[in-house]
Amino acid sequence: MPILFGQIVHRFIEQAINDYLQTGTVPTVEELVQYARGQLNAAFIDSTRYTEQWRQKPTKYYMMQEIYYYGKLQPAVIQDYKERLQLVFNHFLRSETFQEITARKGSLRIGEPEQFRSMKMDGIQVFVVMDFHYYNEQTDKWVIIDWKTGGESDDDRQQLALYAYYVQQKYRVSLAQIEAYNEYLLTGNRKKYQFTDFDMANILHTFQCSVLEMKKYQADIFANEPVDLEDFEPTNEQWQCRSCNFRELCRQS
Ligand code: SF4
Repeated sequence: MPILFGQIVHRFIEQAINDYLQTGTVPTVEELVQYARGQLNAAFIDSTRYTEQWRQKPTKYYMMQEIYYYGKLQPAVIQDYKERLQLVFNHFLRSETFQEITARKGSLRIGEPEQFRSMKMDGIQVFVVMDFHYYNEQTDKWVIIDWKTGGESDDDRQQLALYAYYVQQKYRVSLAQIEAYNEYLLTGNRKKYQFTDFDMANILHTFQCSVLEMKKYQADIFANEPVDLEDFEPTNEQWQCRSCNFRELCRQS
């Protein structure tokens, strides 16, 4: 539910921004809530009525993990997400980012909307799934925005540092010209980050460690074959199992 909720909210925010840029119209909170609720309902119907179709074509149908494993969604969860829909779209429309977009439409150069931006780091292709970025001619800054539909996390800064690394490389600009923001849509909080060369060195180091860690699980580097299933140690952090895609296969769960 949290992942589905986040995907749907991000989709309608992206659409609302694109619509505004093309037509100058701004949706109401009620409209956004209604669209998103329609998608959540569709996912619920897929998960409860189209299990067989989902098994045949898993990319064409939704399957909510809560329904797959527990057979239902708790009424309290449904109520909670109904309330969240109101909050997130309300905060989105009032956010400084959206206000900035509507106030300065002419002087913002919106970053290219490719679905799959990627860059090479140490010769490895890294995909960068950025929510939104633009260049503000008035301030001569590149601005990176990440909408958050969940709580604040220690990883948020690191995630934005990676995006800053991408923008720095792609547009060949200095770090002083890059500002990054988290817009926390449940609370309406906004956090600003600026990065230094130290942050970029840190990102590269984290990336290299992470790649080395993943390579431990490659039995054959050229064929990209993994080691045996038994050689993947289960995590000690069992909260991660709740949203794990491999739960059904895993001896731990
Ligand atoms: S279910 Fe298994 S694979 Fe998934 S996070 Fe837990 S231990 Fe890891």
